[in-house]
Amino acid sequence: MQLLWLRSDLRIHDNTALTAAIEQGPVVAVYLISPTQWRSHDDAPCKVDFWLRNLVELQKALGELNVPLLIREADSWDEAPRVLLELCREHNIQSVHANEEYGINETRRDAAVADALEDADIQWRSYLDQLFFKPGTVLTKTGTYFQVFSQFRKVCYARMHQAMPPLIHLPKPQAALDIKSDRVPEQVEGFATPPQALQALWPAGEDEARRRLAAFSDEQIDYYRSERDFPAKPGTSQLSAYLAAGVISPRQCLHAALSSNQGEFETGSVGAVTWINELLWREFYKHILVGFPRVSRYRAFRPETEALKWRDAPEELAAWKEARTGLPIIDAAMRQLLETGWMHNRLRMVVAMFLTKNLLIDWREGERFFMQHLIDGDLAANNGGWQWSSSTGTDSSPYFRIFNPLSQSEKFDPEGLFLKKWLPELADLNKKEVHNPAASGGLFGVASYPKPIVDLSSSRARALAAFKALPHRQPAAEVTDD
Ligand SMILES: Cc1cc2nc3c(=O)[nH]c(=O)nc-3n(C[C@H](O)[C@H](O)[C@H](O)COP(=O)(O)OP(=O)(O)OC[C@H]3O[C@@H](n4cnc5c(N)ncnc54)[C@H](O)[C@@H]3O)c2cc1C
Repeated sequence: MQLLWLRSDLRIHDNTALTAAIEQGPVVAVYLISPTQWRSHDDAPCKVDFWLRNLVELQKALGELNVPLLIREADSWDEAPRVLLELCREHNIQSVHANEEYGINETRRDAAVADALEDADIQWRSYLDQLFFKPGTVLTKTGTYFQVFSQFRKVCYARMHQAMPPLIHLPKPQAALDIKSDRVPEQVEGFATPPQALQALWPAGEDEARRRLAAFSDEQIDYYRSERDFPAKPGTSQLSAYLAAGVISPRQCLHAALSSNQGEFETGSVGAVTWINELLWREFYKHILVGFPRVSRYRAFRPETEALKWRDAPEELAAWKEARTGLPIIDAAMRQLLETGWMHNRLRMVVAMFLTKNLLIDWREGERFFMQHLIDGDLAANNGGWQWSSSTGTDSSPYFRIFNPLSQSEKFDPEGLFLKKWLPELADLNKKEVHNPAASGGLFGVASYPKPIVDLSSSRARALAAFKALPHRQPAAEVTDD
């Protein structure tokens, strides 16, 4: 008997470990519920709920293949080897199959499981699945990890010209087993079920993920480049939650984009090329996580920025978290996050720069808060995005290029539609005033809306001074990760 250990790969289509396991013999699948571990990773309640809802759908899909899905608890991952060994003994398992996951804790967990299995004469089989290329195989000429995205992408392009990462075929159903699936819990203690309105935005299951991908690649991808920065438009795929939980694979996304663009990824539709570029940013940050493990230990990629004098400003941090900074674009974006579990990419950059530059608050505060609320929370992408915005990261925004939230608002939400959707108290302002209600003043101000908590130009100057005061740059590649 084979054991398929499902983690962030909650699908049956294009699932490398599933197909490999079924090819080797009858398969039973397992998913581990790990509340203490999830809390230590700051996994958001809406994300845990999304996993559970997807497991229900996955159980049905696996049922069509006659693969039972068992649920076990390993409160923290230290318990994973013991729990899996017990299961292996119970079902006389010969091999355990799993798709690779990246990150320090995931790697340690898998190494401990592999060791425990080996001691019991059980095989451990892991597969490249959530990336196009295995971390450590896209390297510079001197054999180091890339730190600049455009150079990383160039090598990815060359690899894709040689061979496109293929889709894995869906296995045929196996003969029915005499093992009953477990009931998937509706809730895990400590992770509140989100409101139905939030759940309804993110229906569970592969059918929904595949529907979104098809709709995006058939109808929207050609406009992606020109519409992706406007938060009032449905210009992006909204697939991130599905990609993070593995309800859809990056290969499925890549192939859909390719077939909308006659097989091209560097030329042809600028929309398709730009979207594939984003899939490669996802890839890049996961390679960074493996190549520079310090980023998952709450450390800056650029070591010299550790000396930055971040401000301890709990009231301003609370105002940012609670969407009452008095700057509509920031508050509307934060409301979108709190109510939907998702935020538009342009706004993630705007609110992150505002926190780390205008408020000069440590990026780790923002990274953590995002993780605690995002349905698509992903260590590599979130850390990459925060370190990019705070100029502490690899290939990040230069410290002197600070977004002005008012100009970003005017440029990317010119009619104020997004602002008015999330801040109905500003509905009566015209499209000019809505970006900066404080400027209307007097009778035209909005009594129920706060005044800005910070002056944009003096806080910008303060951030520039703080970054300029940093000691000289130490090449990030020469810093050890221990
Ligand atoms: C501060 C900050 C934090 C972020 N945190 C996360 C996070 O926790 N999880 C997450 O998936 N993305 C994160 N991102 C990246 C990006 O904002 C989201 O992936 C995107 O908004 C998701 O919407 P979409 O699925 O419609 O994306 P699309 O524009 O349709 O892009 C397709 C897919 O490409 C990937 N992608 C797109 N942009 C990026 C990027 N900049 N970095 C890495 N992958 C990318 C995502 O998987 C996304 O689903 C963050 C960005 C910033 C600036």
